[in-house]
Amino acid sequence: MKFDIVVIGGGLVGASLLSALKNSGLRLALIEARSPVPLPEDESWDARVYAISPGSVAFLQAAGVWQRMDAARVTPVHEMRVHGDDNAARIDFSAYESGVPELAYIIENRQLQHAVWAELAQAENVQLFCPAQYVSLDWHESHVELTLSDGTVLQTALLVGADGVNSRVREQAGIGASRHSYGQTGVVANFEVERPHHHIAYQWFRRDGILALLPLPGKRVSMVWSAHTAFANELLDLPAEMLSDRVARAAGHELGEMQLVTPPAGFPLNFVEVKSLIKPRLALMGDAAHGIHPLAGQGVNLGLRDARELATLVQRFGEMGDCGEFTLLRCYERNRREDILAMGWVTDRLQKLFGSEDAAILRIRNLGLGITNQLPLLKNRLMRHALS
Ligand SMILES: Cc1cc2nc3c(=O)[nH]c(=O)nc-3n(C[C@H](O)[C@H](O)[C@H](O)COP(=O)(O)OP(=O)(O)OC[C@H]3O[C@@H](n4cnc5c(N)ncnc54)[C@H](O)[C@@H]3O)c2cc1C
Repeated sequence: MKFDIVVIGGGLVGASLLSALKNSGLRLALIEARSPVPLPEDESWDARVYAISPGSVAFLQAAGVWQRMDAARVTPVHEMRVHGDDNAARIDFSAYESGVPELAYIIENRQLQHAVWAELAQAENVQLFCPAQYVSLDWHESHVELTLSDGTVLQTALLVGADGVNSRVREQAGIGASRHSYGQTGVVANFEVERPHHHIAYQWFRRDGILALLPLPGKRVSMVWSAHTAFANELLDLPAEMLSDRVARAAGHELGEMQLVTPPAGFPLNFVEVKSLIKPRLALMGDAAHGIHPLAGQGVNLGLRDARELATLVQRFGEMGDCGEFTLLRCYERNRREDILAMGWVTDRLQKLFGSEDAAILRIRNLGLGITNQLPLLKNRLMRHALS
């Protein structure tokens, strides 16, 4: 079977790339190891949520995905309040000040996954291999040949590795990656809260980690508490009432009392920087191409910007001939490098700054938050990047 593009990994990033290309006339395929998870019959909520930027929403809209989302489960964010750990330092961002309708939209992972896969299932030029695993990849001058575990052989002009932070495609392509563990776990859970959140996303840089409460519909919020793994495990082991109380206290009772509504789950946090995004006939995207700390809520957004860039280049040049043309891939790498490096650098430095116990650094970081809050130009620059 011959294809123009085969994507390995049908997470949000890989599946969105194909959604964006579904009317392109290209022959496309997706190989995903896991079966799609159906939406639950009940009204339960996914504890894994994302803050999706307006730029990502525009991309998902053009790909036909955003329209499929249940509007009742999408929460716009009007404001962000970021607190230091001295009860005084604070930086605020508002949609009004930034001149945009919303700063971000909070959505559940499984709702968005479902929407993107529903869109793909209707696309005539996308063949889905799912659940499926490849057993070998062989590079040739004009194509890459993949053999699946059931013996099916696929040939593709361009292979896209979107198989997540532990990408096997990246490893088999011989693309090196420097990687370190933050020694932290992101603990996620949803809560009912006593007071309305008014569509504000809260974040506290605390000595025991970084706590974020993101607004969900009604009086509900989603928590991400990035903390050292030993402390995170303590949180994960707490009975529901004690965890709720602990989170409410850590949030200074900003939203009053809290009540756990989904069991907590933990995700290990790693930093990954790859040596290259491409090799002949291969492009990496999403977490396969960069792993960043979730403190800025930008991982998926960064990956969707990879998908947007590759889709644009393929539509502009690939449809005329060869999607795996090396100059096209070099363009992709050149256009994506700066954004990826900048986001990796900023999130890594912020994590180190706020992870430090040094007394001088403690003072400087709180001062920094306060000063930045007084500098509209700097705030606007930070915001413009987060909105893209
Ligand atoms: C606690 C936490 C909170 C976060 N919050 C946010 C947020 O608010 N906003 C945001 O933008 N980002 C956030 N992120 C980051 C975000 O989760 C990731 O950046 C995003 O999920 C990456 O998507 P992806 O499609 O690249 O990879 P993945 O979601 O990892 O998908 C990879 C896919 O590849 C498949 N696969 C793997 N190996 C193979 C194989 N050999 N063959 C076939 N298929 C394979 C997997 O089954 C999977 O479906 C957060 C991360 C964490 C840990």
